[in-house]
Amino acid sequence: MRVYVLDLGYLTAEKDGIVHHPGAEDHRRIPLPLPAFLIDHPDGKILYDTGCHPDAMNGWWQETMVKAYPFFQTPAQRLENQLALCGVKPEDISAVVLSHLHLDHTGGLSLFPGKPVYAPKKHLAHALQKVSHPDREQHSGYIRGDLSAPVDFCPVEKEFSLLPGVDLIDLPGHTEDLLGMVVRLAHTTLILPQDAVYTAENYGPPIVPTLSLGAPEQYAASVERVRRLERETGGLVVFGHDAGQFSSLKKAPQWYE
Ligand SMILES: [Zn+2]
Repeated sequence: MRVYVLDLGYLTAEKDGIVHHPGAEDHRRIPLPLPAFLIDHPDGKILYDTGCHPDAMNGWWQETMVKAYPFFQTPAQRLENQLALCGVKPEDISAVVLSHLHLDHTGGLSLFPGKPVYAPKKHLAHALQKVSHPDREQHSGYIRGDLSAPVDFCPVEKEFSLLPGVDLIDLPGHTEDLLGMVVRLAHTTLILPQDAVYTAENYGPPIVPTLSLGAPEQYAASVERVRRLERETGGLVVFGHDAGQFSSLKKAPQWYE
């Protein structure tokens, strides 16, 4: 089994929204890389998260999101081109897993018509309810066009092993529920919390929260669970949006095994 880290471009956001220090808010903008992961398993190819829609800044996103989270992507960073670096076409993917439904994770869904898309159950219901509002400026961080892709959503309520060595775990906090992934490779374990842990600074210790949380009372326990997994496995925690760490990772066409 191999894991390829895909580079889908980046957003910028105010630092205070990402690492929130009450009383010492930093409003400068920082880059947030957009990783996705291709798990190339003998029993199937799994894609974990899908980045932003390539037309996000050209009308695909509502204006409030365009202003809050400007998105930058080169043609080489488009999802289909990142998959091509690994010799994979969208139709080769057996299933997609979404950590959660925010706009920087759902943008590639339209590439996978008819495919199973695993998503956290409570948060999926929340996201679908948000995008049902007639005024799209009320959709906050969810994109109706992304969530309308003709995929087969599979709401996940309980943790399970998707394939041998590929576990989906629930890391609530950033959102009501959130699907983290643990991939046990031959030589290392990759612990992928996505936005349950945005950056090394959030991870600490001490843990630093983000500004807005869907389930604030569960945030710290999820971060501690990631830390326990790191200790137990000696694995690598890949943060959801950490520019410093992201630059140091092996990226497609290289892989982890
Ligand atoms: Zn995100």
